[in-house]
This record gives sequence, C-alpha cells and structure tokens, in this order.
Amino acid sequence: MERYSKITEKRKREIVLLRGSGCVYKKCAFCDYYHDSCKNEEENFLLNSQVLEKVDGQYGDLEIINSGSVFELDKDTIELIKQTAKAKGIKTLHFESHYLYRNRIPALRKEFCDFDLKMKLGLETFDNELRENVLKKGIPEKDCYVIAQNFDEANFLFGIKGQDSNTMLNDIKTGLELFERICINIMCKNTSKILPDKDVINAFIKDIYPLYKNDYRVDILLNNTDFGVGD
Ligand code: SF4
Repeated sequence: MERYSKITEKRKREIVLLRGSGCVYKKCAFCDYYHDSCKNEEENFLLNSQVLEKVDGQYGDLEIINSGSVFELDKDTIELIKQTAKAKGIKTLHFESHYLYRNRIPALRKEFCDFDLKMKLGLETFDNELRENVLKKGIPEKDCYVIAQNFDEANFLFGIKGQDSNTMLNDIKTGLELFERICINIMCKNTSKILPDKDVINAFIKDIYPLYKNDYRVDILLNNTDFGVGD
C-alpha cells in the first residue's frame, strides 16, 4: 500500500495516507476502504511516523487522509503532524471528515491555529435522494448551505447509476459556489455493491471532463489511485 505521494498538478501538495482506529460510520454503500484501520494506537503511530518522515515540505501544503475521518487518528499522530508541519515549513494542512463530526471542527481549527486548515467533506452529491437512499452517506441535512458550513473542500462521487451530465454539472457548479475546491472521484469497481456505470462515466468524459480538466479548483481522479496513494 503506497502511503506517501506528491500531487504535482493544479494545487501542488504532498499527500499522506495514514492509519486510524477506523471509520466510525462504515455504512457508505460504495466504500470498502475503511478496512485500512487498526485498533492498536501504538502500531498506528509507528506506521504513521514512518509515513510522516517522508514529508519534505516542498510545497508548504500537505493533505492528510486516513480511510475515515481525522478524528479517528490517535493523539500522538496528531501531535506529530503538527511537529512535522512546523519543522518542514508547511502552512496549509488538509484533513477529511464525515459530516457527523462537524461540531468538532471548530475545536480542531483552534488546535491547528498555526496553520491554514482545509477541512474536506465526503459529500458525494447534493442529490439528497441518491446520496442518502442509494449511497447511504449519512448526511440527513438537505440544505446545501448548511451542509457546507464548517467545510472548505468536498469530495464528489460520479459514475454511478442515477446520474447524468446535468446532475453531475449541477453538483460541480454548486460545489464551486460553496467550497474553495472540490475533488471528483470516478467510481471504480471495488468490493462494495455499488458498480461503476459505463454510460454515466462516458457522459462525464465527453461532456464534463473537457470543461474542468484544467480548472485549478477541481481535482479529478479517474482512478482512485491517481493521487499516488492507496492500492
Ligand atoms: S466513505 Fe468514508 S465515511 Fe463512508 S464508510 Fe467509507 S470511510 Fe467511512
């Protein structure tokens, strides 16, 4: 499993895939990566230390992901992220979080007040029906402005049955109104019951990709390892 990489296009940054105690939610119908977890905090810290050692601060910008939410990382790892970022002159840190932790974000921002913290929400789509009844994302709120509160960035999931060019375009437009940056993940076959839909993916490639492939505010992962981490 690759856990360190550099993203050299658009918003350049280093990225680390750390390991936490595990996603507390685990119900997203499209997800099978929450298996990358361990209940032993010492083992996690050991692994995470080895990954964080690779950070060189080249871009002053570091994204930290952990197959779940930042709040599932152990305290020592959180402390080491701070120390590493300070030592390497990193100004901006990105963390991911499920919506259910939204009320803990202000305290995290305080804890990381020396840095520009970017919180990324796993949103997948603004389409409430698709998001909650099919993807089982666990974001009961329907008001997109309320959903976006506390978050700076968001992940979207495209390429599944029920989407088309219009719905994907609406998600991108609303996403760019409400967030500084968005990341589009194209559904790849995994062990979950949600399958990639070829027609929807082809529509994305034909109608949407050319519009946003050079947009600085839009990361597009046609394959889920495009950031260079994961397996
Ligand atoms: S997508 Fe994220 S929040 Fe949902 S089950 Fe997977 S790890 Fe948990």
